Amino acid sequence: MTYDVINPATEKVVRTIALATEQEADAAIARAAEAFHTWRNVAPADRGRLLRRFAEAVDADLENLAALEVENAGHTIANARWEAGNVRDVLTYYSAAPERLFGKQIPVAGGIDITFQEPLGVVGVIVPWNFPMPIAGWGFAPALAAGNTVVLKPAELTPLTAIRLGELALEAGLPPGVFEVVPGKGTVVGQRFVTHPAVRKVVFTGSTVVGKQIMAGCADQVKQVTLELGGKSANIVFADADLDKAAAQAPYGVFDNAGQDCCARSRILVERSAYDRFLELLEPAVKGFRVGDPSDPETEMGPLISRAQLEQVASYIDNPAIQGTAPTGPGFWFPPTVLAPASDRAVREEIFGPVVAVIPFEDEADALRIANDSEYGLSGSIWTRDTGRALRVGRGVEAGNLSINSNSSVRYSTPFGGYKQSGLGRELGPDALDAFTETKNIFISTED
Ligand code: NAD
Repeated sequence: MTYDVINPATEKVVRTIALATEQEADAAIARAAEAFHTWRNVAPADRGRLLRRFAEAVDADLENLAALEVENAGHTIANARWEAGNVRDVLTYYSAAPERLFGKQIPVAGGIDITFQEPLGVVGVIVPWNFPMPIAGWGFAPALAAGNTVVLKPAELTPLTAIRLGELALEAGLPPGVFEVVPGKGTVVGQRFVTHPAVRKVVFTGSTVVGKQIMAGCADQVKQVTLELGGKSANIVFADADLDKAAAQAPYGVFDNAGQDCCARSRILVERSAYDRFLELLEPAVKGFRVGDPSDPETEMGPLISRAQLEQVASYIDNPAIQGTAPTGPGFWFPPTVLAPASDRAVREEIFGPVVAVIPFEDEADALRIANDSEYGLSGSIWTRDTGRALRVGRGVEAGNLSINSNSSVRYSTPFGGYKQSGLGRELGPDALDAFTETKNIFISTED
């Protein structure tokens, strides 16, 4: 079976790729299982060196990878360059890990007790279409560093950069089988990662609906699972905040990647006394948001990924308060849109498009009540000049990644993941290796 990869800015076919069958997925898993025996025993410094070479290969190919993502996913060129750079940086960060995968020596009676962080085996990484490169890297880089081998399934819509990363890994000297990229359908290849006994962990990023199925499926073999799912994050603006800055930056916190971002701050909660002023300040920022040709470095937002996504997003819009502009003609374009007030559906569901609801609140307690009135809990922001309040509210919001007087959530050196139905487990940061290792305890008797 084949799949036509479409450029979402032009609706033209970019490339036709073969989708793997279940037998082909099994063959890739078998190669990864075989390679595990040697990869886990590569000396730590050598494994680190190979990951740094992989990072260098990504860096040398950065412009090509970025161009592929512009063409395949409609990402702006500026974003796509950042995304390829993120893969390089995550590889570099975890290349230091093999030599620092420490165990513990625990005081016990009658001998010595030591722990080891052992790799799991084959790790299956399932990636969505919204950030094909970074999300792949957050899974494969720490997994490989910990001594696992990886089978990676990109989303059907966006396989091109993953295929290229697989080639770069081989060019960098990773042994065949250590990093297998298997383009295919979720229900075939992704599902096989769940059911195949040689895959000992599944890292899934995608919709909450599919995440629940993956978790239920993994239960059958007591297979480890990390889930990064949806979000409906709150950007909480208090009246004492720098309103100009909060309003100027709010569009970037939700319209980046055309709102197809699990961290999108798609609910802006504004203290009632500042509500009208905030909307006045937001209007020029939304109308001035530059939507257009994603290959133009000045462009701030490209198209949505597909016609289906466009229709889904449009279904939430009824009488917008503010709307920016977007190209007409071919391509899956949708303008930045502000709903104030918004329907209950638009306030609760993850729209995954450039749409934001602006909602008034009365006081700190009310802000927390509204922010936490969601099945999701991935990220969020708090804008205030009162440091005590910033931290109080920060501790009170049920979400994994918060920022104060900023809308940025992602750094490769800090943990990332969700509360509630936004996910299970954490990626990135110093502790990600724990998610890719088993702790083994060995006791050595020192008695005669
Ligand atoms: P999706 O769940 O439809 O697909 C995600 C991946 O899972 C794809 O590779 C798909 O082929 C695969 N898949 C689909 N059905 C499967 C099955 N039955 N078994 C195994 N694999 C299967 O999601 P999507 O539409 O590609 O991505 C958008 C969603 O991802 C949004 O809800 C978004 O919030 C979420 N997301 C979350 C994060 C995060 O870190 N929390 C990051 C990015 C995206």
